Amino acid sequence: MQHDPTNFPAVQPLDAHNRRLLENVHPPAWQNPHPKGKYHLVVVGAGTAGLVTAAIASALGARVALIERSLMGGDCLNVGCVPSKALLAAAKGWHAAREAAERWGGPAVSGDGDFGAVMERMRRIRADLSPVDSAARFRDELGVDVYLGSAAFVAEDAVEVDGARLHFHRAVIATGARAFVPPIDGIERSSYLTNETVFSLTERPEHLAVIGGGPIGCELAQAMVRLGARVTLLEAGPRILPKDDPDAAEIVAQSLRRDGVRLMTDARVDSVAPGGAGTTVRCTQDGKPSEIQASHLLLAVGRAPQVEGLGLEAAGVEFDDKDGVSVDERMRTSNPRVYAIGDVASQFHFTHAADAQARMVVRNALFFGRGTADSLVIPWCTYTSPEVAHVGITADEAAENDEVQTITIPLADVDRAKTDGETEGFLRIHLQAGSDTILGATLVAPHAGDVISQVTQAMTAGIGLAKIGTVVFPYPTVAEALRKAADTWNRGKLTPAARRAFGLFFRALR
Ligand code: NAD
Repeated sequence: MQHDPTNFPAVQPLDAHNRRLLENVHPPAWQNPHPKGKYHLVVVGAGTAGLVTAAIASALGARVALIERSLMGGDCLNVGCVPSKALLAAAKGWHAAREAAERWGGPAVSGDGDFGAVMERMRRIRADLSPVDSAARFRDELGVDVYLGSAAFVAEDAVEVDGARLHFHRAVIATGARAFVPPIDGIERSSYLTNETVFSLTERPEHLAVIGGGPIGCELAQAMVRLGARVTLLEAGPRILPKDDPDAAEIVAQSLRRDGVRLMTDARVDSVAPGGAGTTVRCTQDGKPSEIQASHLLLAVGRAPQVEGLGLEAAGVEFDDKDGVSVDERMRTSNPRVYAIGDVASQFHFTHAADAQARMVVRNALFFGRGTADSLVIPWCTYTSPEVAHVGITADEAAENDEVQTITIPLADVDRAKTDGETEGFLRIHLQAGSDTILGATLVAPHAGDVISQVTQAMTAGIGLAKIGTVVFPYPTVAEALRKAADTWNRGKLTPAARRAFGLFFRALR
């Protein structure tokens, strides 16, 4: 079957980089295989969740089919983590260059920069990374039967794709999610970008209006403003990053404002309409109506699970349009042969969560494993400047629970943050009161996403904060904030009686 490469709005323009990407993730001349008997495992969806599931199951000897209707690699490679981080890295570079004179006594830099070059670099990096997720690799190196086409269940143990019927012992649904389009008046008449199309831009938006102050809205608002666009960010709630610690969100809000983002919280978008050379956004803030004339509109108000057209009814798989496929704690659906993982079935819309669930579900589906989703310790990180990384219980959960003790170390107390001029941030650790058991943590710092892994590791391995205090940290590093938290905890353990006993001991030595 010849696939038309112009069908993918996420992969535009069709330059050499994007053609290379498509050759890997949706080869135009791909020939689907013929089903070879009953598959041990059929995986629907070749994003992170599906790819990891198929690769592991096949490596363990199972006969595996993997079906993808769009781009292998899913959101992460094509329209998520990879392109957004490539953009953020460029934006950070531009920002540092602009600040060099004022902050570091460096050379003065001026001019608009080459936005097109930034986007081309992003497309090149994305294409460079794509062979790992490619249809050819999964077929030739991993021995997976790769089908490109739309899959639909036709029975409790069968799926159809491209006219072929695939019978299975077990199936995994990993069809992901797509950008949610909110029911705003006029939206169907207006043109808008989502994370699926924003990376196809080749020219700098003159004025980007972003609706939604979650991770996607914040990351892309900061990237675009640093790359020279005018940016207005509209958030319906009282603050951005509502799932994160309010103090962390406030630091990011200040950083966005400093960069030049016009940040409007408690902003209700009343309507959007084509207008001027782009879109007119009408909104109300503090009871006052206002109008924004944007050249481009970006929707970043959450995700909708991809459940339609899958024939889930035929397979006896329960689902709903909002929360996706219903699963039990082992990620098994209402059909005991079928499991569901990743964005279509989980509240954690992260590549690393999909990866972890995939590893677990292969054991559960094929090897009588009994792994449960809630046993996974899943961190997250928003890659703004500074980064906000989190693991475990949230600030709200900690505040509601008397049994939680919280220790906060401001980054201003960490030498490396001072030398680098990056003192805005903090480490906050939530402990089980009366013990050093870590229940959760938030870190706001440069590279917070890297450092949070030390806390995640401790939580996964059952290592307490006192033990972390015995670890030798290289000086000077931001990670030392962890040792400082441990020192604070240890000092808190020193009761007045213990202090008196030490006093007596040292007096006796005189
Ligand atoms: P989100 O649900 O995390 O945030 C959406 C935001 O939009 C919320 O703050 C909400 O209050 C606001 N909102 C909703 N409707 C609105 C309206 N009509 N007007 C104004 N504001 C409105 O969604 P997202 O940012 O689109 O991200 C989607 C998913 O992808 C999330 O689960 C997110 O965690 C994940 N993601 C993670 C990362 C990362 O880990 N770095 C990056 C991108 C996306």
